[in-house]
Amino acid sequence: MTDETGPGADVVVVGAGVIGLTSAIRLAEAGHRVRVRTDAPIRATTSAAAGAMLGISGAGPGDPLTTWTERSTPVFDELAQDPASGIRHRHGRIYVDVADELPPWARVLPDFRALDPDETRGFRTGMAVTLPFADMPTYLGHLAQRAERLGVTVEHRRVDDLAELGTGCVVVNAAGSRAGELAGDPAVTGVRGVHVVLSGVDTGVGIEEFTMEIAAAPRWTNVFPHPGRIVVGGAALPPDDPTPDAEVAEEILTRAIAVEPRLADARVLGHEVGWRPVRPTPRTEVDDRGVVHAYGHGGVGVTVSWGVADEVAGLVAGLAG
Ligand SMILES: Cc1cc2nc3c(=O)[nH]c(=O)nc-3n(C[C@H](O)[C@H](O)[C@H](O)COP(=O)(O)OP(=O)(O)OC[C@H]3O[C@@H](n4cnc5c(N)ncnc54)[C@H](O)[C@@H]3O)c2cc1C
Repeated sequence: MTDETGPGADVVVVGAGVIGLTSAIRLAEAGHRVRVRTDAPIRATTSAAAGAMLGISGAGPGDPLTTWTERSTPVFDELAQDPASGIRHRHGRIYVDVADELPPWARVLPDFRALDPDETRGFRTGMAVTLPFADMPTYLGHLAQRAERLGVTVEHRRVDDLAELGTGCVVVNAAGSRAGELAGDPAVTGVRGVHVVLSGVDTGVGIEEFTMEIAAAPRWTNVFPHPGRIVVGGAALPPDDPTPDAEVAEEILTRAIAVEPRLADARVLGHEVGWRPVRPTPRTEVDDRGVVHAYGHGGVGVTVSWGVADEVAGLVAGLAG
């Protein structure tokens, strides 16, 4: 079978972020010949800029984000057996300012403990838990290698119109915050996030536990330690927010040092910027042209990725069958 991207692919996935790569893996495992098209290097995707805390989506029972998280977390737990995957478990604290009570799902998280009122740093509530984390550059490298071993090819070329990919293959639109441009869907917005990357344990800043604040404000603080680097955030800025990235990064660093004074000893390695693909509801469905769409997972795209990929593989199987 031939399409414009070269011979052999019966599925073309647009996007080499975490959703595109994970979907490509599940599709190749199901026996498809898969080609990925991306206009950015994998290390320059929004996925590469993620923190990334896994294991909770914050959505309630019955929400697809919850179902996808429940499917994904056991996969991350298994991946954590191999540190080279970039996945590992971390213990830490989550401070919550959006509710007075912790949600019921929180209490079943590993090593859960509700924080005492004198431990919540002025937040309304909080908990200590153990969660999986992804060191994204390493994890995306792991996914890319795994996809390659399964015969998935990656082509670095922009797609201007999904129709250009031909009719001889199934197309999966996993183009992140720009998926709406390809789908004619104005509901997707790119919400800017910035992370400051600091030198870590290797330079004597011995931070092993994570800190996460869940706040309604567009700016909060998270401290995620990874091997060799510490990623601190956070921000969720709408497309029209004019604050320069460097200024946002400077504010983040000041807040992070206030939360964790030992960070003052760390060296700033740089900052990373990504565009969360925010949509009122994520889109995972086949449209009337037979295109499979998988985008709009906002700030939890990594968390839900294996569940989404399973669903994409199911939708493609349905089209083939
Ligand atoms: C600062 C920050 C922190 C975050 N923290 C977390 C976290 O802790 N936990 C979590 O689960 N999630 C987190 N997220 C969210 C997560 O990063 C995203 O939900 C996820 O990366 C989206 O993945 P994606 O594959 O849909 O999109 P992307 O990673 O944006 O990938 C899109 C791909 O599509 C390609 N593409 C787009 N348009 C075209 C085109 N026309 N032609 C060819 N290729 C195209 C791009 O080049 C890219 O390869 C965070 C995000 C940010 C920005």
